[in-house]
Amino acid sequence: MTTISADTLPDALGASARAFISQTHRLLIGEERLEAADGQTFTTLDPSSGLAIAEVAQAGAEDVARAVAAAREAFSSGPWSTMPASGRERLMLALAAAIEERAEEFAQIESLDNGKPVGLAQYVDVNGAVGHLRYFAGWPTKIEGSVLPVTAPDMLCYTRREAVGVCAQIVPWNFPLLMTAWKLGPALAAGCTIVLKPAEQTPLSALRLGELALEVGFPPGVLNVLTGDGSTGAALVDHPDVDKIAFTGSTAVGREIGAKAGKALKRVTLELGGKSPNVILPDADVAAAIKGSFQAIYFNSGQACNAGSRLFVPAERYDEVMGALAEAAGAARLGPGLDPDTQLGPLVSAEQQERVMGYIDAGRAEGAEVLAGGSSTLADSGGYFVAPTLFSTTSDELRISREEIFGPVLVASPYDTLEEVAERANAGEYGLAAGVWTRDVSSAHRLAAMLRAGSVYINTWGAVDPSAPFGGFKSSGIGREHGHDGLDAYLETKTVWSAL
Ligand code: ADP
Repeated sequence: MTTISADTLPDALGASARAFISQTHRLLIGEERLEAADGQTFTTLDPSSGLAIAEVAQAGAEDVARAVAAAREAFSSGPWSTMPASGRERLMLALAAAIEERAEEFAQIESLDNGKPVGLAQYVDVNGAVGHLRYFAGWPTKIEGSVLPVTAPDMLCYTRREAVGVCAQIVPWNFPLLMTAWKLGPALAAGCTIVLKPAEQTPLSALRLGELALEVGFPPGVLNVLTGDGSTGAALVDHPDVDKIAFTGSTAVGREIGAKAGKALKRVTLELGGKSPNVILPDADVAAAIKGSFQAIYFNSGQACNAGSRLFVPAERYDEVMGALAEAAGAARLGPGLDPDTQLGPLVSAEQQERVMGYIDAGRAEGAEVLAGGSSTLADSGGYFVAPTLFSTTSDELRISREEIFGPVLVASPYDTLEEVAERANAGEYGLAAGVWTRDVSSAHRLAAMLRAGSVYINTWGAVDPSAPFGGFKSSGIGREHGHDGLDAYLETKTVWSAL
């Protein structure tokens, strides 16, 4: 076990984040904080320095069984099962308020555990999580069935929308708190109970959130938090008493979970990878397109499933756009997440850094030209930094042109016609997001209709709102989060026939 003390944590950390991080991190099952049954733990690291920040319980199959039993009990009996919709609303609003009151603490925890700039953590992750919980708090009191005009005489036929049951929610490390809120919001609104598994790289904010849920009055067992790695996630997916699985993560793991869910006939939603094409049309406001395209890929150091990682530029504007992007990438300020001047933080782990560097090497070897970056950087810090990288290639067949890199690596290519670029943008296996930059309304909407992606951004990138469905076509996933669609994924429809 690594020796960690409050004194070894970075100075920039505030008192409340420091106090939370320094405590012993146990599993949250029912109202108990438990060590793993087999005593296993793992270390979570600061990606900006590679230093240990906390030791965390590693849940095994026995802990999974206990957490699922606690969630089942809370679902089937106890105050949650009989709570009126307005009670769920009240608790969800209280949880949102509790997070908001501790916005700075959450942002610092997230920044330290994930590496992301603390301002981004506060604005995007924390504010986004609060907004998401507030939006879904509005839903419990609006979940309605209907009375159906059936043909049979003297028959009352109506539908009830009922909670799916016990949900396994497995989240990734790129937006730990936000992805957690995306999962919890609809599940809690529907009246489900939850076993949440944060990613092993970033377990801390979910534990803090679980603690707060109990403090604001959620009945024990409604939200259980199991920290651990893929084996914990797999045990959760395999547990026979889980009714629904919601997963955000890699396409490879998503396929595995989808196959298991199919076999067990569990409800499942999957939000997976992407290789999202961003298309600049010849008539675009080029300055806005360059700024937007830069943000589309380098935001969160490229660690976003909907990153605009493939850029198509009209041949006649190619040199101009490449020059400006390379200059902006070269000027980006990299540094630790807790430094307020940092624009781009490190990648989340040494493994991720190695993976991204592997892609950069492959891109070079396959003949793509490096216009910016192309190396790991700030080696003296011990952190997992990769310089924002820009590749130019005419080929759509390179690994860097087709595969998800999940790092600050943009692959740009020139094109000649609208039809050509639509075909090339749709050629890959993914379909999470796509973008178009143009001043022409007609081309914008023609292309929006042609692009096979769950979200299309016109003259912007990455816009997100709790009311706006988010999810993927093709290998980017199954189902949608947010809005009506997001809620529906946590509801069963029951039809009741009553002879009068
Ligand atoms: P990445 O490769 O980006 O880390 P993963 O898809 O491996 O993404 O991880 C996303 C989440 O899924 C994490 O919480 C991780 O622990 C979990 N996970 C990894 N493997 C499995 C698995 N086989 N079954 C269930 N969950 C898993």
